[in-house]
Amino acid sequence: MNFNYSQEAENFRDSFRSWLEKNFPKEWNQEVTGEKWVQRRKEWGKMLGLGGWVAPAWPKEYGGLGLTIEQQLVYIEELVRINAPEVLNSNGIGIFGMTLIRYGTEDQKKYYLPRMLNHEDIWCQGFSEPNAGSDLAGLQTKAKDNGDHYVLNGQKVWTSYGPYANKCYILVRTAESRYKGVSLMILDLDQPGVTVKPIKNIAGESELAEIFLDEAIVPKSDLVGEINNGWEMANYALAHERGIHFAQRSLKMQQEFQQLVTLFQEQIHAGSSPAISPIMQNKLVQSYLSCEILKSVCLRNIALIAQGEDTGALPAIAKLVWSESHQDLLNVGVELLGEESLIKGDNQVWMEKFLLSRAETIYAGTTQIQKNIIAKSLGLPSSKGGR
Ligand SMILES: Cc1cc2nc3c(=O)[nH]c(=O)nc-3n(C[C@H](O)[C@H](O)[C@H](O)COP(=O)(O)OP(=O)(O)OC[C@H]3O[C@@H](n4cnc5c(N)ncnc54)[C@H](O)[C@@H]3O)c2cc1C
Repeated sequence: MNFNYSQEAENFRDSFRSWLEKNFPKEWNQEVTGEKWVQRRKEWGKMLGLGGWVAPAWPKEYGGLGLTIEQQLVYIEELVRINAPEVLNSNGIGIFGMTLIRYGTEDQKKYYLPRMLNHEDIWCQGFSEPNAGSDLAGLQTKAKDNGDHYVLNGQKVWTSYGPYANKCYILVRTAESRYKGVSLMILDLDQPGVTVKPIKNIAGESELAEIFLDEAIVPKSDLVGEINNGWEMANYALAHERGIHFAQRSLKMQQEFQQLVTLFQEQIHAGSSPAISPIMQNKLVQSYLSCEILKSVCLRNIALIAQGEDTGALPAIAKLVWSESHQDLLNVGVELLGEESLIKGDNQVWMEKFLLSRAETIYAGTTQIQKNIIAKSLGLPSSKGGR
């Protein structure tokens, strides 16, 4: 297998890099948290959108870059290299945008896609419910046909970006059948029948929300695809959530690993603990091995996608390896820094990442669900249910 980039990919790198050099604000090298971080992600999304650089995988006719898989990898590498923030509308552009392009009407695409690119609308994903997470097909939020519109009642939970979003792509029950009774709709969150209640996460931020629907209205023109065909579209959307995405996570993790090595070197140079401890050094080596394994899995996954071949359980393996080893890496960082990670300053970001990483083994499919998928691919029995 050859992992060298083609000339076409390197040419793309040159043009993207020169745009980034001119446009990425230098002062953003300083990490920020909380509301400032959200604003920065929105601003960056707008800048990339206006420059025509925000949607690498979308076809050009819809305002995307129409990149090959290889070029998309280069795109990610360049953003990680300069430590650019993830755009605020990543959920819309990376997951729902592709679904709308595939299943939406021309009117829906014409209206929603440009607004998504420019961050005029911020999107969230309304799939999970209090009793339907891993077992998503058990969802109970109902949409009743009422002439020219649907009336929605129910509750969604753990909605990322819910507090900042004004649009939600939502899965609702439109018939009894478990899989053939689910539909996908576009919900306007700015209406009387919708209450968005922020949930504070473990780091004290409110990026998540509960969404309560009490006679909320969705015009029929905002049904996506055919009625009762939402399960197929949800799977299409979730496949994007688990696709090339993990290559970005892998690159980010390699970057964090290098920062961890620097912290070790500084402490060892100063002869201070805990970096001089062989136990800590062993943990660092374990993190290195995990980074290398993840890199290989992600590259193999991408190579198979590029060749149009079945990736089998590789996305599940990538999710499992990334989420578990990322938690381990951040554990080492926090252990190394001790109380320094609690004090306001450059190193506090380690504690914040450590806290946020607790959820990484849950969202986008839990660790146990990934293990079920891997077991199935090995011809072993897996427990029932699961996204
Ligand atoms: C930070 C964060 C962001 C999120 N963002 C979104 C979002 O934007 N939109 C959205 O719709 N959802 C979102 N979610 C929800 C997420 O998809 C669900 O939390 C996840 O699917 C698990 O569902 P659950 O929480 O209901 O847990 P459950 O499904 O109830 O699982 C509880 C436990 O049982 C295990 N389990 C369940 N079923 C099986 C099985 N068949 N075999 C073995 N073990 C099993 C699970 O692994 C877990 O350990 C987010 C969650 C988090 C934490």
